[in-house]
Amino acid sequence: MTKPVFRFAPSPNGRLHLGHAYSALLNADFARLHQGRFLLRIEDIDITRCRPEFETAIYDDLAWLGLHWEAPVRRQSEHFGDYHAAFLRLKGRGGVYPCFCTRRDIAETIACRAAESGQDWSRDPDGAPLYPGTCRDMPTDEADRRIAAGEPHAWRLDMAALEKLVPGPHRFQTFDREGRVDIVTVQPWRWSDAVIVRKETPTSYHLSVIVDDALQGVTHVVRGQDLEAATDLHVLLQVLLDLPTPLYHHHGLVLDPTGDKLAKSRQSQSLAELRAEGVTPQAIWRRLGLDPQPTPST
Ligand code: GLU
Repeated sequence: MTKPVFRFAPSPNGRLHLGHAYSALLNADFARLHQGRFLLRIEDIDITRCRPEFETAIYDDLAWLGLHWEAPVRRQSEHFGDYHAAFLRLKGRGGVYPCFCTRRDIAETIACRAAESGQDWSRDPDGAPLYPGTCRDMPTDEADRRIAAGEPHAWRLDMAALEKLVPGPHRFQTFDREGRVDIVTVQPWRWSDAVIVRKETPTSYHLSVIVDDALQGVTHVVRGQDLEAATDLHVLLQVLLDLPTPLYHHHGLVLDPTGDKLAKSRQSQSLAELRAEGVTPQAIWRRLGLDPQPTPST
């Protein structure tokens, strides 16, 4: 029987904090419970924000926590070809279009339309304003000409077209420690036209994460509730690319004393700082409500 596959997939754009430790330990703990495999994946597609010293620190912090993972570690920056191949397959299916808008173009169009209608502009589940659709109906020859001229562009999903192409309902299955499963119907259309290839990076978080989960045979995704809404898009992309949908567990977030979620951008206390204060890995496990346990060493 093939073993269940779990993965922890941090981005090396800052030091890990307790929230990351929770996700990593929970993944390893689930892997132990299911007699599965535990993989580490470095999500470093954003070459402007990711740094080698943060990657080294990830290995160091996770080893300090007592985790073991399989080698070699998949580093997304070494696999842009895989994401491009997936993008070409998506493009072949239709339902994607190039977008030449700058952030400023988008903000101006939204401000204009909101002023005209006197209503607040709708937002996606991440709180970002919905894309106003400026480039959606651009004639193909104009788009081709602008691409050929080297104009920077992203690629977006055309949700209205995709809703006709693959109407669904699309579903995924959840799991938890107690062995309960649930079926969730996703709502990808609430995202509007999500970017799947960014202007400055030849892929996106959404595209690379589903390509890698499939290529690495990931069967169980354990990640924070802050990524739960993104699963809408991931399931849609899996359907479009004919990839298997793993089971998902979206865990609660570790909050700071003021009730905010921990974040690198909010300067949350890092594991390195906790270590420097003399906190032990066992204390971290306990603080996160997990039993210190040996993890599968592959
Ligand atoms: N790289 C993402 C992050 O650091 C996690 C991706 C995932 O688990 O799907 O937030």
